[in-house]
Amino acid sequence: MATIQLEVVSPDRQICDREIGMLIVRSTGGELGILPRHAPLVTGLVPHVMRIKSGLGAGDEEYMVIGGGFMEVTPEKITILASAAEEPKDIDVARAQAAYQRAKQRIETYKTAPKDSASIDIDRAQLALARAISRLKATNNPLN
Ligand code: ATP
Repeated sequence: MATIQLEVVSPDRQICDREIGMLIVRSTGGELGILPRHAPLVTGLVPHVMRIKSGLGAGDEEYMVIGGGFMEVTPEKITILASAAEEPKDIDVARAQAAYQRAKQRIETYKTAPKDSASIDIDRAQLALARAISRLKATNNPLN
């Protein structure tokens, strides 16, 4: 079976460097499926749960949370430079839940209390919410 190398690097470590069958990522332009011998590509990535398939079977799928970043694809290799990346086993669920509540509260204040919201960076809050949602989804935790 054809494979493509996947390397994922975050500011503090290399999370992954191995051969895979297929990668499904969410880019700034939408969802992309990357197979071996994909055409060269550079794109931004939004916060999401990335899906890594070792083969082409339906069952063999692993997940990795990407906090955002950039991806370069060549026919032989996918390189992801992520602002943060975690495998589900490394996610601190209580921390993700706290981040989720904090971001939701900030967005709520921004919408409902304009006088208190001058210091709120709404884009930052929405990205923090998306990262927290991705971490909770990757660990099968409810959003509440
Ligand atoms: P928080 O507000 O909890 O810091 P955040 O979304 O702002 O969350 P990031 O800026 O995405 O955090 O990540 C900073 C560092 O902390 C990265 O190394 C990331 O992998 C790690 N990290 C963030 N949240 C978690 C978590 N829930 N479990 C494990 N590692 C985490």
